[in-house]
Amino acid sequence: MKIGVIGSGISGLSIANLLKENHDVVVFEKQKKLGGLIKCERVNDCLFHKVGGHVFNSKNKIVFNWFWSHFDKDKEFVQAKRNAKVFFNNNIIGYPIENYIYLFNKELIKDIVSELLELQTKPKISPFDYDNFEDFLKGNFGNTLYQVYFKPYNHKIWRTDLNTVSMKWLDGKLPMPNIEEIIQNNITRAEEDNMVHSTFYYPKEGGSQFIVDRLTAGLTILNDLDISTIDKVDEKLVIEGREFDKLIFCGDIRKIPAYCKQILVESGVDVNYLENLRSNGTSNLFCETDENDISWMYIPEDFTKAHRIIYTGNFSDTNNRGSSKKTCVVEFSGKVEYDVMVNEIKKLPGNLSPLSYNYEPNSYVIQDHRTRTEISAAKRALKAKGIFLLGRFAEWEYYNMDKAMEAAFDLYENELS
Ligand SMILES: Cc1cc2nc3c(=O)[nH]c(=O)nc-3n(C[C@H](O)[C@H](O)[C@H](O)COP(=O)(O)OP(=O)(O)OC[C@H]3O[C@@H](n4cnc5c(N)ncnc54)[C@H](O)[C@@H]3O)c2cc1C
Repeated sequence: MKIGVIGSGISGLSIANLLKENHDVVVFEKQKKLGGLIKCERVNDCLFHKVGGHVFNSKNKIVFNWFWSHFDKDKEFVQAKRNAKVFFNNNIIGYPIENYIYLFNKELIKDIVSELLELQTKPKISPFDYDNFEDFLKGNFGNTLYQVYFKPYNHKIWRTDLNTVSMKWLDGKLPMPNIEEIIQNNITRAEEDNMVHSTFYYPKEGGSQFIVDRLTAGLTILNDLDISTIDKVDEKLVIEGREFDKLIFCGDIRKIPAYCKQILVESGVDVNYLENLRSNGTSNLFCETDENDISWMYIPEDFTKAHRIIYTGNFSDTNNRGSSKKTCVVEFSGKVEYDVMVNEIKKLPGNLSPLSYNYEPNSYVIQDHRTRTEISAAKRALKAKGIFLLGRFAEWEYYNMDKAMEAAFDLYENELS
C-alpha cells in the first residue's frame, strides 16, 4: 500500500519504520526540524532539549527490543539511574516526597502521619474508582500532603483544577504506594526503584535528536509542509498531489485536516468538543549550573513559577561540550517571557545562568471525563475511511515516548500489518 504519515514526532517515525518494510511510506512534517517534542539543538556546542529532556526506557518487551534493533545499546547509549529530588522548604530532598516525610518539620509530620493512619482504617478504593485526581491524591496521601505538595505542584504543571482531571488519564503513570509502604519507606529510608524511568537509557551523543536522526534514515520525509488539506479522488486519499491508500495522522486532533473534519461531522462525532480540548505549553530556559548528580528536581512551592529542573548535562558529558559547567533545562508551565524566567532562576539553587530558551505551545494534553469516549468515536469514524489517529495530540493521550511506540505497534499489528 501507499501510506502517508502526517507528523515526524516519535509516533510518526515509529509507525513509518514499522511500515516501510512492506509498504511505500511518505512522512509529512510541518516544521523544518524533524522530531516534534523530542527535537534538540546545539547552543554554544551544548545540547538543548527544546522541550524538557528525553530519556528512554520501556517495560514492554516488544517495544524495548524493537527500539534496540535500531541502536547499539552498549556503544551508543549510557544507562543511568534516576536520581530525582524535590526542592522543598529551601532543602533538596528525595523523591517521591512521601518517602521523605521524616525530613519535614514536626507539625507537618504529626498531621501527615495521623491522616495516613486515619486513611488506613478506611476501606481500600481502587485508583479508578476515584472520581477525579484531587480525590485520588487526598484519598491516598491525606489532606496535608495534598495541600503542601501535590496540589501546588500539579497546579503549576496542569494549570487546571485537579477535580476536573479524569483518573483514566493516569493509567500506568503513577506508582501506587500503600500507606504501610510509605511508613516503612520513611523508617528504612528506602530509595525509589520501581518506576518506569528509575533507570533509563540516553544517547551518548546528541540526546533525543540522535534517536530522531536514526529513525529518519531511509524514510521519505517532506518537511516544512503543514498538511491542512486532504482530497478524496477515486478511492485514494491525496496529499500534495500524492495518492495514498491509507493515512496516519500524528498531528493535533484539534487541527485535523478539513476532509477528516467533514468525516467526523457526518458521523455525528462532537467536533466542537474535540476542537476545544485543552493543552498546556511549556517555556524552557536552557542554563549552565553548578556540579551536581541530580537527574530531575521538582519544585512544588509557589515562591517561583518554575516547576522542574532537568539536569540534561548529567545524562551525557557530551551535552556540556562548549561549557566548563553542567547544563540543564528549567521548565515553566505556559508562556513565560524570557526576562521573567531569568529573574525566576535567581530563586533556585545551583547558580543558574541562561544560555537559550524555547516556548512550546503544546506539550501536555489535559484529559477530562469525556475525552477517551470522544476520541474513540473519532477513531472509529476515520478508520472506516482509511485514516488512523496516532500519538500524544492525535489520540489526546499523556504518552511517553515508549507508550507512543507501543501505540504505533498496536496500530501496525491490529490494522496495517
Ligand atoms: C517536558 C516533557 C518531557 C518529556 N520527557 C519524556 C521522557 O523523558 N521520556 C519519554 O519517553 N517521554 C517523555 N515525554 C513525552 C514525549 O515527548 C512524547 O510522548 C512524544 O514526544 C510524543 O510524540 P508524538 O509523535 O506523539 O507527538 P509530537 O512530538 O508532538 O509530534 C507530532 C509532529 O506532528 C507534526 N505535525 C502536526 N500537525 C501537522 C500537520 N498538519 N502537518 C504536518 N505535520 C504536522 C508536528 O510538527 C510534530 O513534529 C516528555 C514530554 C514533555 C512535554
